[in-house]
Amino acid sequence: MRYDEPLFRPPSEAESFILQATLGCSWNACTYCAMYRTKAYRVRPLEEILRDIATGARLADEVRHVFVADGDPLDMAMEHWEPILLALGAAFPRLRRVSTYATARNLLEKSAADLLRLRELGLGLLYIGPESGDDDTLHRLAKGASAADHVEAAAKARAAGMEQSLIFLLGAGGLEHSETHARASGRLASAMDPRFLSTLTLTVVPGTPIATLEAQGRFVLPPVVGLLRELRWFIEEARPSAAIFRANHASNYLPIGGRLPRDRDSILAAIDEALAGQRTLRPEWLRGL
Ligand code: SF4
Repeated sequence: MRYDEPLFRPPSEAESFILQATLGCSWNACTYCAMYRTKAYRVRPLEEILRDIATGARLADEVRHVFVADGDPLDMAMEHWEPILLALGAAFPRLRRVSTYATARNLLEKSAADLLRLRELGLGLLYIGPESGDDDTLHRLAKGASAADHVEAAAKARAAGMEQSLIFLLGAGGLEHSETHARASGRLASAMDPRFLSTLTLTVVPGTPIATLEAQGRFVLPPVVGLLRELRWFIEEARPSAAIFRANHASNYLPIGGRLPRDRDSILAAIDEALAGQRTLRPEWLRGL
């Protein structure tokens, strides 16, 4: 399979068949994101996508999961999604789940009937990155959606029977809005009520708008201890009904995880140990995006 690089997928999709249905991201404006800055957004022609599925069908017995890339393929019209999902179902008889990145914006643009149809055809998991639950922070990040938009989008996804994997970004509020951002993010996680929940740590990537703000002294990333405090505030506020929580991404200083709400106390205790200097943190040289 030939891919148009760069190609990104969630770490949990490492074993999945990756189908590149769109190139780039239709929004491509988030101030911290460098993922698709070199790519103009476009939906690939349907016949090309179907050809990729036919090529992948050589792996028919092995493929259980398919991840549809690039940035936010939920933006695609139903005229694209329906034949793609039907072809995936025909090519991979053992297929159990199709997943994709999604934004609140493109979830809200789809009708309830369209989302139900996508779920019927196999689209079962959406990776959504609200990054923050604080509207001021969301505005500064140029996410293009408010916390209330994310709550509404999540309700639509749940009503259609789709699961969500949510990503929040420690440090995204900067030093100035650190606690507000972290606590509001935990509250948004509760309101969206995902099946999977994770925190990453903001890395300021050269060439992004947030790097320019940092160079001008208008954005300051909290220090490591501040990021640990943000993690604690986030967990204090996060009350999903039953979520698998992971903070083991390479960008994080303290790799932890568990189930929420079941493991809240042990997760908080681990963070407190780290704040007290009793836990080894991931060294800077081992951290990555
Ligand atoms: S929606 Fe996602 S991929 Fe697109 S610019 Fe924002 S963070 Fe990057």
